[in-house]
Amino acid sequence: MKWLILLLLVGIAGVLIATRFRRQIQTGIYLWRMFTKMRQMSQTDEKRIEQKANSKEVPLVRCARCGTWIPQTKALNLRSKVFYCSANCMETAVKVG
Ligand SMILES: [Zn+2]
Repeated sequence: MKWLILLLLVGIAGVLIATRFRRQIQTGIYLWRMFTKMRQMSQTDEKRIEQKANSKEVPLVRCARCGTWIPQTKALNLRSKVFYCSANCMETAVKVG
């Protein structure tokens, strides 16, 4: 019973504080929401910049057989500076000479 009364008192105090500082609480919530939104936006921006940087770092190379442009990381090469888009292209190039 003692705890129930204490809980009730705390509840009343909470309601009183909430009604008294409603504006401050509302502005606080508003600011907090804006802050989280801004943080999310900046995070997505960072990701976008990262992706751009990654795409810039990988140079495109041309397949010596079929002429398809592919990122160097995915390209196959036998000799230096001669790239192929797939094993198939590499094989045909080797067979032809
Ligand atoms: Zn090819």
